Amino acid sequence: MRVLLADEYGFCFGVERAVEMVEESVSAGETVRTLGPLIHNEQEMKRLGSHGVVTVSEPVQIGRSETAVIRAHGVTPQVEQELKEKAGKVVDATCPFVTRVQRLASRAAAQDRHVIIVGSADHPEMIGVRGYAPDHSFIIKDETEVAALPRLKNPLVVSQTTIKAKTFFDTAEAIKTKTDDEVEIVNTICSATRDRQEAARALAGMVDAFYIIGATHSSNSVKLHAVCKEQCQKSFLIETEDDIDPADLFGAQTVGVTAGASTPEWLIKKVVKHLESIDPNGTKDMALA
Ligand code: SF4
Repeated sequence: MRVLLADEYGFCFGVERAVEMVEESVSAGETVRTLGPLIHNEQEMKRLGSHGVVTVSEPVQIGRSETAVIRAHGVTPQVEQELKEKAGKVVDATCPFVTRVQRLASRAAAQDRHVIIVGSADHPEMIGVRGYAPDHSFIIKDETEVAALPRLKNPLVVSQTTIKAKTFFDTAEAIKTKTDDEVEIVNTICSATRDRQEAARALAGMVDAFYIIGATHSSNSVKLHAVCKEQCQKSFLIETEDDIDPADLFGAQTVGVTAGASTPEWLIKKVVKHLESIDPNGTKDMALA
C-alpha cells in the first residue's frame, strides 16, 4: 500500500513545545504535575503518565516538592500566582501565540480601554486571556452577540487563536457600530489549524482512502475528518492502527494520512507502518464477508 502524508499534520508548534518542556523536567528528575491535560490524546497522555506526569485540576493539588506545568492554552495571572505559591517550580508552556494575545489584552486594559475577544467563553485559552483584562473585557462568539455589548471605549478586538478568519473579521466590523472611537483590530488567529485543513483537503482528492489520526473528542481532528470526507468518501477518523479495518482498503492503491494537532509523531509512524504492510488485494475476502 502506498501511503502519502499531508504536507502539514500532527503536533502544532505550541503543543510540541509544551511536550518538550515536560520531557525536559522529567529528564531532570522533577515530579511533574500539569494543570489540566497537556494534550487531548489518550495514548500520549498514557506515555507521559508512565514517566510519572500526573494531571491535576486545581493548583491546591500541587505540593512544594513538585513542578507545575502551565499548558499551551495559558492561565489567568491569578492562577499563575497560585501555582507559584504552591509548587516548588513553575514551567510556563503557554504557547507564544497565546502569550501575545494576553499581552495585548493587558496593555489595552492598562490604558483603560475595552477589550473584545472573539471566541468561546468557556475555552481555557479565553478564560486565561480574559484574566489579563478582567474589568475591561467581553468574550463574544461571533457578530450575533455584538448587539448586546455596551458602548465601547477605544476598543481592542482580538481573537481566540483557533477560530475562523471570517468569523473574526465579520465580528470586528460589526463592533465598529458600538463606538465613536477608533477600533484597533489585531488578528491573533494561529495558522496551524487552517494549514492542516488545507493540506488534508489537497491530498484527499488524490487518494483512494484517507485516515485521520486523532481522538474523537478532539475538535480539530473531527474538523479534519469532515474536510477529508468532502473530497474522499472513504475517510476514517482513527485513534490507533487497531481501528483500521483492512476490508475498507480492498482495491485501494494509495491512502492519505493526516493527524490532529495533539497526535504525537511516534503514533503517526506506527499507523503509517501498519498501512504500508496491508496488501489491498488480500483484503477481498474481508470486504465480501
Ligand atoms: S494551535 Fe496555534 S496557538 Fe494553539 S498551541 Fe498550537 S501553535 Fe499555539
